[in-house]
Amino acid sequence: MTELNGLDLTRNLIAFDTISPPGNEADCARYIAGILEQAGFRIAWHDWQPNRPNLIATLPATEAVERDAIVYSGHLDTVPLGQAEWSEDPFAGAIRDGRMYGRGTSDMKSGVAACVMAGLALAQEPVRRAEVKLIFSAGEETGCEGVLALASQPELLGTCEALIVAEPTDNRPFVGHKGALWLSLVHHGVTAHGSMPERGRNAIFAACRSIETLRGFDFRIDSHAVMGGASLNIGTMSAGMNVNSVPDLACVGVDIRSTVGQSNALIKEQLASLLGEDVEIETLADMDHVYTEPENPWMQGVFGVVEDVFGQRPEIGTATYFTDASVLKPAMGNPATLVMGPGAMAMAHQTDEYFDVAMMEPCVEVFTRLGRHHIAG
Ligand SMILES: [Zn+2]
Repeated sequence: MTELNGLDLTRNLIAFDTISPPGNEADCARYIAGILEQAGFRIAWHDWQPNRPNLIATLPATEAVERDAIVYSGHLDTVPLGQAEWSEDPFAGAIRDGRMYGRGTSDMKSGVAACVMAGLALAQEPVRRAEVKLIFSAGEETGCEGVLALASQPELLGTCEALIVAEPTDNRPFVGHKGALWLSLVHHGVTAHGSMPERGRNAIFAACRSIETLRGFDFRIDSHAVMGGASLNIGTMSAGMNVNSVPDLACVGVDIRSTVGQSNALIKEQLASLLGEDVEIETLADMDHVYTEPENPWMQGVFGVVEDVFGQRPEIGTATYFTDASVLKPAMGNPATLVMGPGAMAMAHQTDEYFDVAMMEPCVEVFTRLGRHHIAG
């Protein structure tokens, strides 16, 4: 095999159309598995849905294992191209003015490529006292669906001591991200002719009561010093089939972003008791927040490596989006978790998505050093 580099690999990954839905991540995953297998990784598959597998690649230790694995993770699906026309071919990975263009360049095939490149470098290390695992998921963009299914088979995942999620951060080392809890509040009523509303029960009025209850909702929790406060947004409202009927169904979509010190389960209970039992609460997505104390020794090691590679101590921060770590961290024994990748945060899900190609090499360097340190025992 000719020497791969991170940019060529990113371009090769971009060429696979993994827009979700329908995803079809299988070909892209098989391509990566082929590269890793040749380098000495053991490949395991979790078939989530037809043509939508999760890939787990494990580089075994060469000596008696002294510590739990280090895991690098990413997702292979991308979001749709959007309505606006692209000025670049979204599957070509052309580089112009230091930027590689294409769907998934930032979110997050460049990050996946950085994980693979680090994995290949670690496979060259003659002495390895811990396993290195690469987990590439399907169906992340639609609410971590792929890893949620994978987590139901813990024997495939195992546990780990450190987890790196290569989502786009412009190479900033984030110590976590907020949780997301998406709910649909379902209000039932009784339909009637619009000229005789007194014979019905209007579901829209019930929905309005819920909305008023949630306006200015107080989470009763202080804003976290690093992650900030929790938030609640009403994103959708749908009700009514025709103007001359009393609607018997009204649904309100609520997007809650939770922070350190909160659990989504408790928030849901809080809402349920506030809204009353006439309101049915459907959970659309439920991802807990992810946070590792900056003082955590492994995280301190990350900051040291980042400072070494970039020449300055990084600022402590968290990402605004959620990641597969919401599922993987609790499923894998609550490891210290870093969110860091070469993609540009501002470019995720954008028309003419690109990533700054100069980000690749330093990211691979950080990932490789973290792995080397880890497997040295
Ligand atoms: Zn992503």
